Amino acid sequence: MPQLRLKLLEPHRTSLEKCVYCPKLSRAACPVSNVEANETVTPWGKMSMAYFAGRGDVPLDALHADPAWACSGCYACRERCDHKNEVATVLTDARAEFFARGLAPEGARRAAERFWAREDAGDGEPDARAAASGAVRVLVGCGYVRHAPDVAEDALDATEALIGAPVRPVRACCGLPLLYAGDRPGFEAAARRLAAEVAEGERFVAVDPGCARAVRVEYARAGVDVKAPELFVDLAVASLDRLQRSTSERRVRYHDPCQLGRGLDRYDAPREILARITGRPPEEFIHRREHADCSGGGGLVPATRPASSAAIADGRIAEHRALGGGLLVTHCAQSLRRFRSRGEPAEDLASLVARAVAPR
Ligand code: SF4
Ligand code: SF4
Repeated sequence: MPQLRLKLLEPHRTSLEKCVYCPKLSRAACPVSNVEANETVTPWGKMSMAYFAGRGDVPLDALHADPAWACSGCYACRERCDHKNEVATVLTDARAEFFARGLAPEGARRAAERFWAREDAGDGEPDARAAASGAVRVLVGCGYVRHAPDVAEDALDATEALIGAPVRPVRACCGLPLLYAGDRPGFEAAARRLAAEVAEGERFVAVDPGCARAVRVEYARAGVDVKAPELFVDLAVASLDRLQRSTSERRVRYHDPCQLGRGLDRYDAPREILARITGRPPEEFIHRREHADCSGGGGLVPATRPASSAAIADGRIAEHRALGGGLLVTHCAQSLRRFRSRGEPAEDLASLVARAVAPR
């Protein structure tokens, strides 16, 4: 059997072929195809297009490359798939092949350019603690630092209180925007730089689950050795007895972020933390835990398909309000940004923990 001409797809040949010959069982799970109502961007359509491009059945051009970016990396299709096909991973590798050939959509190319422009400008330090000598390195996440600096500060304060020692923000970005853009060499360079920085500290904590999963899972795929980060949510749930009951928290509804839930298998911990702080289990969306619906914030979809991303977020917000509203809480910089930018004053779990945690 001839090798696929897109070499990064060869290890995924079995997954690709399962999708191509599948009756689209994961179709209803995909947030992108649900809002676009387009067969080409169903999980089946995206995998088929990548497979046909890999085999040489369709031209290698921007038109046939584009569907690979119609994925928010939410992993929802995997939960509906009898084969547990890792569609998001396959499409991430397809993006790398297309990007290297100059076939990435404009939104992805601009995201990669902006990443390097920020790096050149030395952007990304959360606060004065960047110069501290704390032995605990904290990867807050660029999404929080740039778009929710209030949460970035809360996350640092809360981590410091939970651990009982000074913390030092990690300066390097995990490189996830480059991975999603398709800039694989750039992602690997960013990964090596972060790995070198955190090797110096005694402990390494990651707050944003997208960053945490990138370091835990994607660095290994890229062949980069790194100290595995502890998760902020794990630190908080291990110190439940130090979280004080809030007298002011309103009715709270929890949104499972894809990266924390399906990405890192953390479903109970955030709910236990919210129950401790508010005195009762959080309200739920109709689809929750393994089958939770995406916020539309991941996979660079806000940059490559902004209208689809906004429509996905609007769907979550409309459901939240139809179910009775309250305070929408999530734990992911991209989801938080999506909700806030679409008019819902959502909060991050890190902020609630920062307000609730008693000092040691
Ligand atoms: S991910 Fe699974 S269910 Fe979905 S099209 Fe592929 S093989 Fe079928
Ligand atoms: S990972 Fe999510 S967005 Fe991507 S194809 Fe699967 S369901 Fe669709």
